[in-house]
Amino acid sequence: MTPADDTPLDLLGVGIGPFNLSLAALADGVPRLRTAFLDQRPRFHWHPGLLIEGSTLQVPFLADLVSMVDPTSQWSFLNHLRAEGRLFPFYFAERFHVLRTEFDAYCRWVTEELPSCRFGRRVDEVRWDAGREAFAVTVTPVDESGTPSADSHRLHARHVALGVGTVPRVPEQLRRFVDDPRMPVWHSSAYLEHRDDIVNRRHVTVVGSGQSGAEVFLDLLRHRPHGREGLSWVARTPAFAPMEYSKLGLEQFTPDYTKYFRGLKEPVCDRLLPDQWQLYKAISGETLGEIHDELYRRTVDGGWPDVRLTPGVHVGAAREDAFRIELSLSHAQQGTDATLHTDAVVVATGYNERPLGPVIGPLEPHMSLDASGRPEIDGAHRLVLDGRVGGSVFVQNAERHSHGVGTPDLGLAAWRSAVIVNSISEKVYSLPERTAFTTFGLGDPAFTPGTGRSTRTTTLHSS
Ligand SMILES: Cc1cc2nc3c(=O)[nH]c(=O)nc-3n(C[C@H](O)[C@H](O)[C@H](O)COP(=O)(O)OP(=O)(O)OC[C@H]3O[C@@H](n4cnc5c(N)ncnc54)[C@H](O)[C@@H]3O)c2cc1C
Repeated sequence: MTPADDTPLDLLGVGIGPFNLSLAALADGVPRLRTAFLDQRPRFHWHPGLLIEGSTLQVPFLADLVSMVDPTSQWSFLNHLRAEGRLFPFYFAERFHVLRTEFDAYCRWVTEELPSCRFGRRVDEVRWDAGREAFAVTVTPVDESGTPSADSHRLHARHVALGVGTVPRVPEQLRRFVDDPRMPVWHSSAYLEHRDDIVNRRHVTVVGSGQSGAEVFLDLLRHRPHGREGLSWVARTPAFAPMEYSKLGLEQFTPDYTKYFRGLKEPVCDRLLPDQWQLYKAISGETLGEIHDELYRRTVDGGWPDVRLTPGVHVGAAREDAFRIELSLSHAQQGTDATLHTDAVVVATGYNERPLGPVIGPLEPHMSLDASGRPEIDGAHRLVLDGRVGGSVFVQNAERHSHGVGTPDLGLAAWRSAVIVNSISEKVYSLPERTAFTTFGLGDPAFTPGTGRSTRTTTLHSS
């Protein structure tokens, strides 16, 4: 360990994904606010395994790091385009949904310009140091492979923001295959790294009906010869369903909805989230259209593509069979089962929030937990800690259970960061009172409160 740094920072960010980068950008220039943001990777790279050519953001470019709160910020996407001399081409392109590679390049540009961002630094532990009245944060410099390249040292900070992102979710029965580099089974997050290998396999199976599964399936389809596609796409959902993209439907990604969700009882939240799967687990209508177009083109000369697109299927056991993978499938609606032999599998089953425990383990005795043992998080995105801890630990993208479906959405990044900056500094980003036309719940003054026993006792005064 090197000797402790004497002056605590005001804010230390753990992880530099888009969410903490948004916080770094909005904190930049706040008078007297001393910040540092650390990431274990060598440089910013946004989900590199899925930067498939032509794939776009699911949200408009206004959902950049800052614009939804401060469009005048120098860290806006438009200012990035200006700095790169690309404003005119962008203007004529008339793109609202920008390329994912563009968003990646934009964020990297911000990290390279912002002095508070430092890469190659892994945060190992955050604990409260009562003597210093600050968090003691243990940091290890690491190289490209994640191997320590120097001794650990300690930094102190009055507040900490955890933006550690997600980790690939792999069904238990496929885990040992994904973990074994000799097996032709990969999580979609590693797709591009292995694409050359995958496209050359005789038969490939994609598992999962989210956006990643659809994009991987489309990409494979485009790389396979007509009539000899040799592709299967199986998913548990009853249909390859489109993502909710109606204007009023999208109001569930507003701060108004987050506020409403936070007021619901825990069991209601837990029931509601899976019911909202079409808001975050489905496929964009555009990608579904592109898949159909590509398949349709392949029928024009009278042929039929060699593909199986089968929803409603659960993938059970998997085993290796003479250099092939054998997947046991069952169909819930039909009550049938079958076996699929394939030469490669892409597991596109999404992501889980990265567990916070390894980093903030020493704080666990100070944390309030909900009935399911998850951290309680307040309206300012702070872990609820007991009075023995004097500083705040903010979380970004680890609060879906308490703040709802908007948690991983880039459209709320700037808002959440502004709430955090407002709660620790003298700078106040002004945030509008209302963000949705929908009135969520019956708390609005237009509704006369009832007895609380039945929703039917409520009257609506229309004007
Ligand atoms: C392929 C893909 C596309 C997506 N597209 C969209 C979209 O179009 N629109 C949308 O709204 N959402 C989208 N999302 C969802 C979401 O916005 C992204 O997952 C986003 O990257 C989340 O940002 P983050 O900052 O939470 O985490 P991440 O981007 O995962 O970054 C977390 C960072 O923390 C670092 N880290 C972790 N632990 C430590 C540690 N102990 N020490 C130091 N560093 C650490 C990691 O190295 C990583 O760099 C997409 C997700 C995926 C997977």
